[in-house]
Amino acid sequence: MKILVIGGGPVGLYCSLRFKMKYPSSDITIVEKRSKYTRDQILLVKRPFFSKLPKNVRGELWGVQKKGCYIDAPPLTKNARCLYRSKDLNMSIRTADLEISMRNEANKMGIEFIEMEITEDSFKELYREYKPKFVFGCDGANSVVAKVLNTEKKVEPTFYGMGVTFRTDTPIQKTKSLLSSPQHRYRGFSSQTKDGYVGINISKKEFEDTKNVENLAKNALKFYGFDDTKDIKTWKFEINPGVVDKVCKGKIYLIGDSALTTHYFTASGVNMGFECVDYLYDNISKKDMCKNYKKFIISLHDLSSQAIENVDLKHKKTLAKCNKLDKKKVKEMSITKGITTHLPFKELCYLVKDML
Ligand SMILES: Cc1cc2nc3c(=O)[nH]c(=O)nc-3n(C[C@H](O)[C@H](O)[C@H](O)COP(=O)(O)OP(=O)(O)OC[C@H]3O[C@@H](n4cnc5c(N)ncnc54)[C@H](O)[C@@H]3O)c2cc1C
Repeated sequence: MKILVIGGGPVGLYCSLRFKMKYPSSDITIVEKRSKYTRDQILLVKRPFFSKLPKNVRGELWGVQKKGCYIDAPPLTKNARCLYRSKDLNMSIRTADLEISMRNEANKMGIEFIEMEITEDSFKELYREYKPKFVFGCDGANSVVAKVLNTEKKVEPTFYGMGVTFRTDTPIQKTKSLLSSPQHRYRGFSSQTKDGYVGINISKKEFEDTKNVENLAKNALKFYGFDDTKDIKTWKFEINPGVVDKVCKGKIYLIGDSALTTHYFTASGVNMGFECVDYLYDNISKKDMCKNYKKFIISLHDLSSQAIENVDLKHKKTLAKCNKLDKKKVKEMSITKGITTHLPFKELCYLVKDML
């Protein structure tokens, strides 16, 4: 069986590995335009998907022996790392680390890679030549495969965000698994270098107010306890989550961001992509697959819209809960649990509140 995967990002790689494990004699080819994986954003990957990855990938990212705490955050105590993981059983992984590890495994499993930026014409040509049984369009939000299917994206009412990049001498690598909690207004990401990025969920009013930029950035950095920042750059942006009206045709399926983009504060984009893969993995040879897959995507889309509303609601609820907590007890608890104390109260509270 021949499978053509367009796009070797997290979803295309996950898809290829899963199908290769299910059908070891299949010929799988991935067409990917990038020669190097460098994206630094930290992805929250839900445990059920992570646990379906090949043992080598899991081992490389988390360690397969023991309980598997994040092996790449040395300055944090083991307790702090486990605490975060055991709290919601999700993994925080730098996008490029996940991609590189999956790609190395794909190479070992005999999955072929073609480095090329596909266009509508070259896609049609490759399709004719390769004669695949299935094509999986995993080429992201500006998908060429979606264009070939002639899809239109229905966009949700717009949301707003703000980005802050900065440099710091604080070794933020150590906080990366703590920083990517999606339950509140701020999402912080660190890179392997000393550069940092914080995303802020902002309202329409905040988006339109041109004077408040500096304050918003200052508060976000204060939230994470960075007080020695330099080279701060800020920008505001619109967020347009949406779903395409046609997700498959014949042998061609859209998977991941090519079919469905979500508000990134919900930390669901890559997880929804993995969920699409798992659905196809279980059902690909069943009757009426395309019709059923469409229903499935719509249900995911509805979930994602609810999740967007829930982010704000959760943020408000958690803050209300935190405000009622005894500050001294929260500090004591975080020290006992080995959580890095340079995090400000609200962040500590998010981490220990369920244990109080
Ligand atoms: C700041 C930020 C934080 C996020 N945090 C989370 C999180 O915590 N949890 C979560 O679940 N999601 C998160 N997301 C969303 C997540 O990054 C995306 O949903 C996910 O990357 C989608 O994966 P994908 O493989 O479908 O698409 P992409 O990651 O866009 O990958 C598409 C791949 O196709 C390749 N490609 C594109 N066009 C072509 C072409 N014409 N020819 C050949 N190759 C092509 C690209 O090079 C790329 O490798 C976040 C997003 C951002 C921006």
